[in-house]
Amino acid sequence: MKEPTKLVTAGRDPAKHQGVVNTPVYHASTVIFPDLATHDEIRAARARGEQVVVYGLNGTPTTFALENAVAEIEGGYRALVVPSGLAAVTTALLACLKAGDHILMVDSVYEPTRNFCRGMLARYGVETTYYDPLIGGKIADQVRPNTRVVFVESPGSLTFEVQDIPAIAAAAHAKAALVVMDNTWASPLYFKPFEHGVDISIQAGTKYLAGHSDLLIGTISATQQAWPALRETARMLGLGAGPDDVYLTLRGLRTLGVRLARHQESGLALARWLEARPEVARVLHPGLPTDPGHALWKRDFLGASGLFGVELKPASRQAVAAMIDHMELFGIGYSWGGFESLIVLTDPQRVRTATRWEGHGPLLRLHAGLEDVEDLIKDLESGFARLNAAL
Ligand SMILES: *Cc1c(COP(=O)(O)O)cnc(C)c1O
Repeated sequence: MKEPTKLVTAGRDPAKHQGVVNTPVYHASTVIFPDLATHDEIRAARARGEQVVVYGLNGTPTTFALENAVAEIEGGYRALVVPSGLAAVTTALLACLKAGDHILMVDSVYEPTRNFCRGMLARYGVETTYYDPLIGGKIADQVRPNTRVVFVESPGSLTFEVQDIPAIAAAAHAKAALVVMDNTWASPLYFKPFEHGVDISIQAGTKYLAGHSDLLIGTISATQQAWPALRETARMLGLGAGPDDVYLTLRGLRTLGVRLARHQESGLALARWLEARPEVARVLHPGLPTDPGHALWKRDFLGASGLFGVELKPASRQAVAAMIDHMELFGIGYSWGGFESLIVLTDPQRVRTATRWEGHGPLLRLHAGLEDVEDLIKDLESGFARLNAAL
């Protein structure tokens, strides 16, 4: 089956739900068993790892539908749904690490992931070393006997460096470390983590899977070897995603392909337009042939999402405010992956520890939404006029 077809069929079985097209929303804590023998049978099935309904926290047909769909589309053995993207990151790390272990963390990682290493993993005796996102196979020199995880996020948060994931995975696996990836940028459609040596892949489903800026959810998919520890850890942590949010994510998934195609097209159009603007120092978008990560992106990725960076030529904060404060279509806001366009001022150097961000001007992060791209360009054009007037 080709991918657009999978997006329509994955995790869906109308015959099991009176013919209803979408898997219904099951709200549940207690589940009633008809008798003791059935109770024992279902508990035994759960112990074998089967998808059975025992208690609301362990999953319902709604949760299982999303888990199965994500596993199928991302290409993992199984997948888990948790209440946020950050919970997906922390659960995956807790499943792999114990006191005395070491983790190699990419320096361009999403900042809350870094906070978790500093604020929680350190407290429990796990040491974190940050590495250059462009390190490639040379990461082998940094893998220690107690390194259990090499964490990758590609392209990097805010700065969009593309990592050589197959080379990193080869070095990690040579020393029995696992590769955990935050694959949110590309979504399960545009990067196939398990074909490139990743063992556990995380999605902030809040972004493109849900796609409508109205909920928080995370998914974790894994290889067969990495799966048991992950499932046990999630169970011990007591994480359960809300059934309505799971349902909405499944609904979002059905249109992920068409939405992402538009995000990609508009993102590239904006990136090309911005590249030619006199106010712009450079555009950070691996889909542009001028981007340093373009060759790796072309080799490993199947597309680009709508999120990218723009470094302006040096300008005051006041001038940047004049530009972004009065946009008609681009909202100033975190998160991304919804239908609407966003713009934020970022500061990568504030959080880096292993590398320096070499930019000189203000760095903006843009999300190309589903609006008409001509309208988006007009909005940016007026923004530049305000910027120039305030310089
Ligand atoms: C947003 C984001 C997350 C966290 O997702 P939440 O659902 O907001 O917790 C994790 N990783 C990346 C790359 C993100 O952009």
